[in-house]
Amino acid sequence: MTAAAATMLNAFCIDLEEWFHVCDVETPYQDPATWSEAPSCVEKDTEVLLSLLDEVDTKATFLSMGWLAEKYPELIKRISDLGHEIGCHGYYHRLVYEQKPEEFREEISTARKILEDVSGQQVTCFRAPGFSITSDCFWAYPILVEEGYEIDVSIVPASRDHGGVKDFSPVPFVMETDAGALKIFPVSVMQFAGRTIPFSGGGYLRLFPLRMIHYGFRQTHRRGLPVMAYIHPREINPTQPRLDLPLLKRFKYYVGLESCERKLRSLLHTYRFGTVSDVLHDFGCTDRKQYRDVDSRQTGYPAQLAK
Ligand SMILES: [Zn+2]
Repeated sequence: MTAAAATMLNAFCIDLEEWFHVCDVETPYQDPATWSEAPSCVEKDTEVLLSLLDEVDTKATFLSMGWLAEKYPELIKRISDLGHEIGCHGYYHRLVYEQKPEEFREEISTARKILEDVSGQQVTCFRAPGFSITSDCFWAYPILVEEGYEIDVSIVPASRDHGGVKDFSPVPFVMETDAGALKIFPVSVMQFAGRTIPFSGGGYLRLFPLRMIHYGFRQTHRRGLPVMAYIHPREINPTQPRLDLPLLKRFKYYVGLESCERKLRSLLHTYRFGTVSDVLHDFGCTDRKQYRDVDSRQTGYPAQLAK
């Protein structure tokens, strides 16, 4: 292991949702009224993740849906009591770019209240479902600040099928919005075969061989940056119920389920991980100039930030 791998504190996030909370595809579970009757895996799968984290004495950030916290308050309380950070993953797991600003405000405000009530923690970290803050909906940022959030972990600085902001800064930075400052911690990306690609979570973690994921960690650490890694509880459960999805979506959601827990254990044993808040504290995150690199010409924000 290199010195950087031994010392750099990396962020580990769990996006807390059910096996049927998939994005951007028709399923029998579009309507939240169907969710309570659906089979549930989230408690069992989360226990596996909690054990993995306990193995290496590591705290993580659990970004939960408000709906989930209402349905399983004891799960959120248990995660919080174990010393993990609780963040918000929307209320109904709706894509941000499909909402109107006032709907978004309602989602993140209601979810935050429930998460704080249930966990007893102040909830300041947000991740958009499906990483769906794109350059078309940067209006979400001042709303997040107004609703009490201090950190956003929603951006993937690469092209994706939904979400993703190409050419966005991969470096954590402070964004000045009209409503105040918001720390932005993007998902990690690496340069590989001439392309910018994520490697440290979700389908990428399940699809790529471990040596390629380690390559991404090494490349990120060489740039002096912490890695932002993430997983969903369903991704370590090969026996989860399967949705009847189109071929590409089926591949995306179900590839590598069998090897995911092994890969995750290897990463957790190789690198140092902590909560998003701990990593940003460790990293400093005081750079207010990075936003000039953001490709967001439609938003009006870069002009204000560049001064
Ligand atoms: Zn999600």
